[in-house]
Amino acid sequence: MKKYDAIIIGTGAAGGIVACVLAEAGKSVLLLERGRALSFSDVGRDHLRNQRLAIYGHNAGPELIGNPRVFVDPEGRSRLVKPYELDYHNNAACVGGGTRVYGAQAWRFHPDDFRMASKYGVPEGSSLADWPITYETLEPFYERVEWELGIAGDGRSIQNEIPRRRNYPLPPVPPSPHTLALQHGARQLNWGTTPVPLLINTEAYGGRAACIACKYCVGFACPTDAKTGTQNTVIPRALATGNCDLKTSAVAETIETDDRGNVVGISYFVNSSGSPQRETARSRLVIVSAGAIESARLLLNSRSSFHPAGLGNEYDQVGRNLQGHLYPRAYGLSPTRVFNGIGPGVSVATIQFNHDNPGIIGGGMLADDFIKPPIDFWYDSLPPDLPRWGVENKRFMRENYTRVMHVRGPVQDIPNPEGRVTIEDAVRDKWGIPVARLSGTTHPATVAAAEFMRERGEEWLRASGCETVWSTQPGLILSGRQHQAGTCRMGSDVKTSVTDEWGRVHNHENLFVVDGSLHVTNGGFNPVLTIMALAFRSAEYIARLI
Ligand SMILES: Cc1cc2nc3c(=O)[nH]c(=O)nc-3n(C[C@H](O)[C@H](O)[C@H](O)COP(=O)(O)OP(=O)(O)OC[C@H]3O[C@@H](n4cnc5c(N)ncnc54)[C@H](O)[C@@H]3O)c2cc1C
Repeated sequence: MKKYDAIIIGTGAAGGIVACVLAEAGKSVLLLERGRALSFSDVGRDHLRNQRLAIYGHNAGPELIGNPRVFVDPEGRSRLVKPYELDYHNNAACVGGGTRVYGAQAWRFHPDDFRMASKYGVPEGSSLADWPITYETLEPFYERVEWELGIAGDGRSIQNEIPRRRNYPLPPVPPSPHTLALQHGARQLNWGTTPVPLLINTEAYGGRAACIACKYCVGFACPTDAKTGTQNTVIPRALATGNCDLKTSAVAETIETDDRGNVVGISYFVNSSGSPQRETARSRLVIVSAGAIESARLLLNSRSSFHPAGLGNEYDQVGRNLQGHLYPRAYGLSPTRVFNGIGPGVSVATIQFNHDNPGIIGGGMLADDFIKPPIDFWYDSLPPDLPRWGVENKRFMRENYTRVMHVRGPVQDIPNPEGRVTIEDAVRDKWGIPVARLSGTTHPATVAAAEFMRERGEEWLRASGCETVWSTQPGLILSGRQHQAGTCRMGSDVKTSVTDEWGRVHNHENLFVVDGSLHVTNGGFNPVLTIMALAFRSAEYIARLI
C-alpha cells in the first residue's frame, strides 16, 4: 500500500488550500471527498431546489437518501433530519465544498474579533475566549488569499477599522440603484460604507473570465467560472503537480490508530460497482477538513481503547461551541424602482456596528443582498401581514419585486458549550457510520446583538427613503448552518480547546484539523476568508514538518 505524506479529508474552502500548498511543496497527498465534482449543469438553475433556498431539495449534496442527522430542538425533542431541511445545518458535499455554491462574500475579521473575551469579559453560560493568534498574525495570509485567489473590493474604505497593507487586486462590483439609495441613507445617518469584498472576478483574473452579472451567485454555480472556489483554483493547482491523488465519492469513516494509539491513516468507503466497499490508506499525517459538523463527527467516531471518547476528546471538547451566525434581515418599500436585475446584487455594507455598541457583546456587519429569484423573494422578503397566496399576494409581488430594499448580515456568535455536535450511535448513514446529533442553542447574548442589528437595519432603510419597513425577529436557536464553525477550537489549554494554534490536535503529533472548526469565535462577518487564511497558515507549517 502506498504511504502518503498526508491524507486530507474534505475538499472545501480549507481542504483545497491545504492540498495545494502541500502538493506544491512536493509532498504526496491523498485528497478525499465524499461528494462528486459537480459540473455547471449538475448544479443546475432550479429555483426551488438549491443550496440557498432548499425547501424542496438541494443541489450540491450530500445525497438526499442515506445521510440523515439527528436534531434536538431547544425543548429537547429529537428527530431525524434530511440534508435540505434547515435543522440539518447543511453546507455542501462536493468538490469545492461550500465554495462551489457560496455567495463568495470575502470578509476579513475585525482585529477585535480575535480578542472577544479580553474586550467584553465572559458572559455567564458562555465559553467566549480569545484566539491564540491575533489579527496581525493572520494579516499576511488574508492578503495571500486575496491576491492568489483574486478578490474584488475597496480595502481603503475600511482601512481604519481593519488595517491592511495592500488593496484588493480587483475593483468592486459597480453600484446599482439599490446601492446608491443605501449609500445615500448611510450618509444621512453619518455611517461609513464599503463595497462588499467578493471572491468574484470583476475582471478576468487567474486565467478565469470576468463576471457576466447573471444574478445566480449564491446557491448556484457560476456559468463563466468567475466565482472563485477551491474547485477552480487551488485544487487544479494541486492536481497539476502530480503529487495529489483526488478520490471523490469516498467517505472517511474513521481515523485509524496503531496499537499505541498513534494516528496511522484512515478507513473510508467507496461505492465499488454499486456496493459499498471499505478501504484503508496510510500516511505520515492526517488533516481533517470536513467542515465544522463532519470534522467533529469524524473525530468522535474515531474511537479505540486508547481513545474511548474519540480522538482529541479527552476533555469532552470536540463538537462543543458550534457556531454560525444569526442573520437579522430588514426590508423596506422604496418609492422608486431600485432593483435592476444585474448580479451579483450584493454591493454595499456598513461595518459601523461590529464592535463598541453600548450594552451589546460584539455586533455585526450589514449589507444588501444577492439578487433573489422570485420564489426566494416570496419566501423570505414579504411584509408579515401580507397573505402568502391569492390575488393580494400576486399584486404585491408584481408591483413591488423591484421596489423592496433589503439589508442583512451576520452577527458575532457568543459561543455556548451546549450548542454542540455529538454522535448518535443508534442512527447510521448508508455506510453504517453513526451520524451527527446536533443540540443546544447559541448564547442569549447573540440574540441581543442580533436584535440590535435588526433595529440598525430598519434605521438604515428608513434613512434610505423607505416609508414602510419590516424585519425578522431573531430567536434563541442553534447556530451553525452554512457558516458552521467552532467545534474543534484552537487554544493553548488542552482542557478548553481541541487543537493548538496550527490546528494540531492536542497530544497528537500527526493529526490536524484545518477548517471552520478551528474558529474560537466566528467574527461578525461571513467566515470563508478567515477559514482560507488559516488554511494557508497551517498548511505552510505542516509542509515544513513533513
Ligand atoms: C449557499 C451558500 C452560500 C454561502 N455564502 C458564503 C459567503 O458569501 N461568504 C462566506 O464567507 N461563506 C459563505 N458560505 C459558507 C462557506 O461556504 C463555508 O464557510 C466554507 O465553505 C466552509 O469551509 P470548510 O473548509 O470549513 O468546509 P466545507 O467547505 O464545507 O468543506 C468540507 C468538505 O468536506 C467534505 N466531507 C465532509 N465529511 C467528509 C467525509 N467523512 N469524507 C470525505 N469528505 C467529507 C464535504 O463534502 C465538503 O466538501 C456559504 C455557503 C453556502 C452553502
